[in-house]
Amino acid sequence: MAEPRRSGGCQCGAVRYAITGPLINPSVCHCRMCQKAFGAFYAPLVGVKLDRFEMTRGALSIFKSSDVVERGFCSQCGTPLTFRNLESDEMNVSIGSLDDPAAVKPIVQYGIEGRIPWIGELDAVPGLETEEDTDATPDHYARIRATNHQHPDHDTDRWPPEGTKR
Ligand SMILES: [Zn+2]
Ligand SMILES: [Zn+2]
Repeated sequence: MAEPRRSGGCQCGAVRYAITGPLINPSVCHCRMCQKAFGAFYAPLVGVKLDRFEMTRGALSIFKSSDVVERGFCSQCGTPLTFRNLESDEMNVSIGSLDDPAAVKPIVQYGIEGRIPWIGELDAVPGLETEEDTDATPDHYARIRATNHQHPDHDTDRWPPEGTKR
C-alpha cells in the first residue's frame, strides 16, 4: 500500500518539506540535546529514508550539534524541522512541524535518562483553551487572528499572500 505524502514546514512558511512513508520509529526524545534544540521538554521526531524526504520551499539552516548529527531549522523563524544522524540513511522531521501532527503517534521514547521527572503528570494539570486565558486584554485574540503570520497547515503556491504586510 502506498504511504501518503505528508507535508510540513516552519511557522513562517519560508521552509517547506514533504515526506512519503514508510514512517520509521515515530518517537519522542527526552535527551538533553533534544530538549535544548527544541526548547521543549522533549523532541517529537519521525524518520523516513533520505530519498523519501524532499524540500518543497526554501532551504534548511543547519546546526551540527555534534560531528555526527545535523539539526535543521528555519533561519527566519527558528522552527526546529529536522534531525539527521549523518551515519544513517534516514532523515527525521519534527512531528510538530508536520501539517497533520496528530496523524503520527509515537511508538517509542528515546533518551529517557533525560526525561523530566514530572512529565507524566501533565495530564492532571488544569487546562484552558487558548481564548480562556483571562490574563489577555479583550481584543488580544482578535488581534492575533487578524494579523496571524503563521503559514497554514497545507502547501501554498505563494507565501505570504501578495500584498500583505508582515
Ligand atoms: Zn520559518
Ligand atoms: Zn535526543
